Amino acid sequence: MARPATSPAPEPPYYLPSGDEIEVFAQCHAQGLAVMLKGPTGCGKTRFVEHMAWRLKRPLITIACHDDLSASDLIGRFLIQGSGTAWHDGPLTRAVREGALCYLDEVVEARQDTVVVLHPLTDHRRILPIDKTGEVVEAAPGFGLIVSYNPGYQRMLKDLKPSTRQRFVALDFGFPAPETEARIVAQESGIAEPEARALVQLATRLRALQDRGLAEVPSTRLLVAAAQLAVRGVDLRRACLHAIVAPLSDEASLVGAMRDLVDATF
Ligand code: ADP
Repeated sequence: MARPATSPAPEPPYYLPSGDEIEVFAQCHAQGLAVMLKGPTGCGKTRFVEHMAWRLKRPLITIACHDDLSASDLIGRFLIQGSGTAWHDGPLTRAVREGALCYLDEVVEARQDTVVVLHPLTDHRRILPIDKTGEVVEAAPGFGLIVSYNPGYQRMLKDLKPSTRQRFVALDFGFPAPETEARIVAQESGIAEPEARALVQLATRLRALQDRGLAEVPSTRLLVAAAQLAVRGVDLRRACLHAIVAPLSDEASLVGAMRDLVDATF
C-alpha cells in the first residue's frame, strides 16, 4: 500500500554509496529516465531512494507492490461521496501531478496488467492516461519513476516482461563491500567498529550458505538489527541468533550450520 508523500527531511537520510549510483540516478532524474534498482532485500535500495529524494528536493511516494495491486490502486477511482461519486487520485497520479518521486517497491509482485500502466510514463511522452475520466495527465517537472526488483527472489515464478525491463535504466545493488558494510552497521546502530566488522565477517560466512540451500541470505538490515540489540545490552552472540539466524530459516540442519558459524565468529 502507498505511504503518504514525505517531504524532504531537514537532514539527509544516511546513505553510504558503493559506487557512482548517486551521480547516475541524478542524471536519470534530470533526463526524465525511469530507474530500476536491482538487488536482494535489505541492501539499501529504499534508503537510497529516500536519500535521493532529499538530494533532489522532491517529495517521495512509496508503493509496496503485491499481487492484488490493481491499476485503480495506482491511478485512482470514483468513490461514493454524498449522493454521487467523486474521483480520487491514486498515489501514482498524485506523484505525476506533484512532480514527486514515485517508488514502487518489489514491482515484480504486481500483476502484469497493473505494471503496464507505468509504460507511458517511462518514454518520451511522460503521460498518465486515466481511462475512467478521459484525462491525460502530463508528468509535472521533477516527477521520477523508480522501481525495485529482487532478481533472485521467486525468479522461476515471476519475472518482469522484457518489454517492461527495457523501459528502465538499471542500477545494480549488491551487498556493500565489507569495509563499507561495517561502516553502515556501526553508523546505523552505534556499535563499535570492531564488532561491526565481526558482524560483517559472520554475514560473509552465512552468505556462502546460499549454495547449501539457504533461500535468503542475511541482509545489511539484519546485521543492523543484531547490532541494535547488542548496543542495548543483549549479548552479541544471542543477538545474532535472534536477529539473524532465526529469521532466516526454520530448517534444523541450516539453523545448526548457522549457529556453528556464529560460535566460530564470537
Ligand atoms: P531494501 O530497500 O534494499 O530492502 P533498505 O534500504 O530498507 O533495503 O535497507 C535496510 C537497512 O540497511 C536500512 O534501513 C539501513 O539501516 C541499512 N543500509 C543498507 N545499505 C545502506 C547504505 N548504503 N547506507 C546506509 N544504510 C544502509
